[in-house]
Amino acid sequence: MKIIDAHSHIDYITHKIQPNVVGTICCAKNESEWNLMCNMINTDNNIYGAFGIHPWFLSDVKNDFESDLKYLLALNSGYMIGEIGLDKYKPNMDKQSDVFIKQLDIAVNFKRTVFLHCVGAWDKILHLFKQYKKSELPLIVVHGFNDSENILKNLLENYNVMFSVSNIKYINMIPDDKILVETDAKQNVILSELVNKISDIKHNANMCEIIYENTLKVINNG
Ligand SMILES: [Zn+2]
Repeated sequence: MKIIDAHSHIDYITHKIQPNVVGTICCAKNESEWNLMCNMINTDNNIYGAFGIHPWFLSDVKNDFESDLKYLLALNSGYMIGEIGLDKYKPNMDKQSDVFIKQLDIAVNFKRTVFLHCVGAWDKILHLFKQYKKSELPLIVVHGFNDSENILKNLLENYNVMFSVSNIKYINMIPDDKILVETDAKQNVILSELVNKISDIKHNANMCEIIYENTLKVINNG
């Protein structure tokens, strides 16, 4: 059994902690973590990095963060974009939107996988997606999805998306080739147990391999 954690953070490098986990996609919270993440990636081949500014951590966003982000991406073809998005329950939606749109634009231009955080703001995000041609948008990894089945269907029908899950809530609605597993840095999510549960529900003994292949696709920017 080989698993890559599709969404964690710098304080929880899953493959150093959990059995059967061979790699970790580490999502940045904001620019203050980018340097450390670069060092971690350079010293551990099994850490993959998504660089960005999370909607919860906007307080010290630099005016020129875009040029810093572009610089990192230009130098490192494997770097992805995350964790970015919108959260209705956190302050300052105008600033959240501004920072998110700038990062989505960069992801489109650099054709890099996006790790998306969206809570209660799918109307806004779907509206933003419509500003692009579908073929322009990169692979979008929706993390911790917790909204309506209609939105999930809409995303699957219209966009190049995958879902990284830490529980089985929506698992029957997500096609096998769109499933990823994540801890989101939570110690109580044991990925090998989660993958086994998904295999049982899907009646597919190859789910572990399929999820692993899906994650490699993510790492290779779709
Ligand atoms: Zn996260």
